Amino acid sequence: MKPCVALVAANDYHPAAVEQALARLMHELGGMSTFVQPGQRVLIKPNMLAGKAPDKAVTTHPEVVRAVIRMAQAAGGIVSVGDSPGIGSPMEVARHCGIMAVIEDTGAKFAPFCDSVRVGTVGRTFRQLELARDILDADVIINMPKLKTHGMMGLTCSVKNLFGAVVGMRKPALHLQAGADKSLFALMLLELAEHIRPALTIVDAIVGMEGNGPGSGEPVSIGALLAGSEALAIDSVATRLVGMTAADVWTQRLAQQTQRLGSHLADIELRGDDLEKLAVPRIRAAQSSDTAWGLPQWLHTPLRRSLSARPYADRHLCRQCGLCVKHCPPQAMRLAHDRLHIDYRCCIYCFCCQELCPEGALLTHQGLLLRLTRWINERNQ
Ligand code: SF4
Ligand code: SF4
Repeated sequence: MKPCVALVAANDYHPAAVEQALARLMHELGGMSTFVQPGQRVLIKPNMLAGKAPDKAVTTHPEVVRAVIRMAQAAGGIVSVGDSPGIGSPMEVARHCGIMAVIEDTGAKFAPFCDSVRVGTVGRTFRQLELARDILDADVIINMPKLKTHGMMGLTCSVKNLFGAVVGMRKPALHLQAGADKSLFALMLLELAEHIRPALTIVDAIVGMEGNGPGSGEPVSIGALLAGSEALAIDSVATRLVGMTAADVWTQRLAQQTQRLGSHLADIELRGDDLEKLAVPRIRAAQSSDTAWGLPQWLHTPLRRSLSARPYADRHLCRQCGLCVKHCPPQAMRLAHDRLHIDYRCCIYCFCCQELCPEGALLTHQGLLLRLTRWINERNQ
């Protein structure tokens, strides 16, 4: 059976407008009661990457979270909300991004995501995997990503948002396991999403992020809410919505290569508003997203510098707080002589440092072939 994705126009975060758009969206899928039964424990997992204000478009907007909490409660669910942020305590991040206020207003519970449970082998990629107990204890998971560019993966949406089920410092360990192999990391994300299998995903794409996402890009109006029960299929629609293709998004590319259902738009039953009418012109990609040019794998290593982007610290912006040094998965960074140094022989180009830097001090140097590709693409648009 074809996976189904619903899509509706939604242009602002006024509570009444969000509620109305969400009602229309969920009507296309049979209503919230299709997913939530009375008495079930419902875990809502928004994107709470960092404690930034909602207008920065780093986190799922609290008004969308509020509307989903209310709808799940009306269906009889016992709702909790949580995520494991990149930096900072979940509680602090929830307060700064406005989600804690809606948790308190609605009488939902806060899920602290502080406790991990080891689960058995997942797919081909995980030697060991620990997931937040809050995720494993829920009867129903509602995944609530924000649609943003992503330095490493191209885009972050339904599949990538579930990486937040891996608690705190266990995330860098998985980056390290994948090393510089973005295909392997993308496969890990796909297998993780298939393991968690949220009952429902609702995407906040009213305002998304372009440029150096997921933490330091610029907000961009997209004007839509999306929903469905197949995370990958929703991402296929979201990719088209922002004018990108599977070649720009590693998880989509891997999903197509491995022939996963929902990785092509032709596989998907679209409901609601017309995707082609809602689609926006191609949003600006992150500077750090790279290209593989369709080259065979054995050429990637010798050409890596030229095909990729690498991080460097702006000396004027860097306050030498040490946060990136602490979280760099292969410990390729160090502070010495009043400067941040990166050992590019160890760097796995994961861009966790750029994602986490509170000062936006980690910039990107693009390799020659990558710059050439960008230049050709821009001329052809
Ligand atoms: S680059 Fe950013 S995170 Fe790293 S030390 Fe400088 S200010 Fe801190
Ligand atoms: S320096 Fe940055 S991009 Fe390189 S491995 Fe460390 S965190 Fe990842």
